[in-house]
Amino acid sequence: MKEENKVAIITGGSRGIGAEIVKQLADNNYKVVLNYNKSEKEAKEIQEQLLKLGKEIKIFRADISNKKEVKELIQFTMNNFKKIDILINNAGISQEGLFNEITDEMWNKIININLNSVFYCTREVLPYMINQKQGCIINISSIWGETGSSYEVAYSTTKSAINGLTKALAKEVGPSNIRVNAIAPGIIDTDMNKNLNKKEIEEIKSQIPLCRIGKTSDIAKCVKWLIEDEYTTGQIISINGGWYI
Ligand code: NAP
Repeated sequence: MKEENKVAIITGGSRGIGAEIVKQLADNNYKVVLNYNKSEKEAKEIQEQLLKLGKEIKIFRADISNKKEVKELIQFTMNNFKKIDILINNAGISQEGLFNEITDEMWNKIININLNSVFYCTREVLPYMINQKQGCIINISSIWGETGSSYEVAYSTTKSAINGLTKALAKEVGPSNIRVNAIAPGIIDTDMNKNLNKKEIEEIKSQIPLCRIGKTSDIAKCVKWLIEDEYTTGQIISINGGWYI
């Protein structure tokens, strides 16, 4: 898929991995819609920075666990750019604690934000992609969706489900020339891991064959590659420094 005039939506593009994907795609002249929820200041700063470089970027606030707001995000994109070629389902939260201490409220919250959002966003963009017989959907999953993480059962559940959705949907929409893939990062240096202290980070690094935690650019580079590729679909691509092989 060539970048000229291609339109990409990135959910949770205000911080961390999503912000790096926004910058990577804008740098490569994709037209970008950055979705954010709470981090308006960060979203505006990224927009300002990229506009100064002559890039095409719009920002839109939507809680992607709310299907009405997702509809508005997709409508905003269509109104501004007239098409949608790429959807990056990136937004997500983590949650830690013993399984027996997960309340209904906690469970529903993480299922809504991490999993239902992927369903809502994908369901809204697919008719446009099917109509134009072309599209690329990338879901940001996690190493814990593959291996499971104790103390993060709900989070692991959402990411495993995203992997299943990715494979099944790839089969269903492949004939419409729509590719659906997931990236499963290991540990990446973002706010999501700011609760880990130095000692814990060192311990994790000692288990990783490439001896470092990941950078947001490690994930953004793979996103760019997956968009430009033409024959990869239904894959869960692990980017974890060899932590899980
Ligand atoms: P992060 O730095 O905490 O950023 C999370 C992003 O998600 C923010 O931009 C946030 O936007 C957005 N978001 C959260 N809830 C939202 C909602 N309801 N509606 C819209 N946006 C929402 O996290 P990250 O590390 O970049 O994580 C990005 C993705 O990578 C997540 O799916 C995560 O599970 C996955 N991942 C991360 C790691 C890691 O080690 N960091 C590893 C594996 C997988 P606002 O701030 O604007 O609300």
